[in-house]
Amino acid sequence: MIATSMTALDLLDALVRIDSVNPGLDPDGAGEVQIAAYVARWGRSAGLRVDVLEGTTGRPSVIVRGGRARGGRRLLLCGHLDTVGLAGNPDGLTPRIQGDRLYGRGAYDMKAGLAAALIACRDAALAGIDGEVIVAAVADEELASLGIAEALTHLDPAGIDAAVVTEPTERQAGTAHRGFAWTEITVTGVAAHGSRPHQRGPHVLLGRLGLPRPGRHPHRALRTRRRRRPRRHRVGQPLRHHHRRHCPHPARPGLLLLNRPNPHA
Ligand SMILES: [Zn+2]
Repeated sequence: MIATSMTALDLLDALVRIDSVNPGLDPDGAGEVQIAAYVARWGRSAGLRVDVLEGTTGRPSVIVRGGRARGGRRLLLCGHLDTVGLAGNPDGLTPRIQGDRLYGRGAYDMKAGLAAALIACRDAALAGIDGEVIVAAVADEELASLGIAEALTHLDPAGIDAAVVTEPTERQAGTAHRGFAWTEITVTGVAAHGSRPHQRGPHVLLGRLGLPRPGRHPHRALRTRRRRRPRRHRVGQPLRHHHRRHCPHPARPGLLLLNRPNPHA
C-alpha cells in the first residue's frame, strides 16, 4: 500500500501485524527492529525525513520529520513502538475489527496513537505547513524507556515549541504524569533471632530503619503499618519487601519502596 494514501486505520493494521513485544518483558519478544524498519521505510516513502537511532543494539527508535525544517514552530508527537507480551492473547498480531474498533496486541497502547501521529506528520507535510511536525517513535517504553532517553539526546528541546505524547488517555487531555520512583535501601547491622531482637545490641531494623517501633512486636507493627491509609500525596502505598524472608532479623535487611506521587495533590 502506498504511504501517501494510507489511512490511519491502514497504518494501524500494518503496525499491529508486526511483533514488537518488549524483550525486557518477554525473552522471546521480537523487540523493535522490524517495526522500526517499517516506520522508517514508511516515512521515507511518504516523503518525510527519517533518522534511525540505535544506541542500544537491537532497540532502535525512529525520528520522522515533516514540514519546514527551519524557521517555523515545531510540534513533537511521541509514541512507542514496543508492546507488552502476547500471553493470554495468542492471536494478538492479527487485527480484528468489531464495530468501529480495531483489536490486537498494542492496538490501544499504543500503535493507534503512533499511527495517528505518523499520519498527522505526513498530512502536515503534504499541506505545506509553515513549521515542522516531528514524530519520535521510540523503543522500550514498556520497561526502561531506552528509546525516549536516546531520542531526547538527539532532539534539541530548545527547538521544540510543544509536545504531545499520544498514549491513550480516554480522550481526555492529560497535562501531568505521576511518574514513579523505586528506592532500594540496604542497611548493615547484626543479625538476631526473631524472638530476641535486642539480645545482641541495637537491632538493625529497630535502630537504623526505625521499623518497627520499639516496644512492639516487629511483625505486629509491620502489619499495622501495612494497613495504614496512604498519605494524601501518594497514589499507591509503598511496597515493602524483606529480601531474606526466612530470617526476620537479618544483618543486612533490605527495603524496596515504590512511590507514585500524584501530580495533582
Ligand atoms: Zn503505552
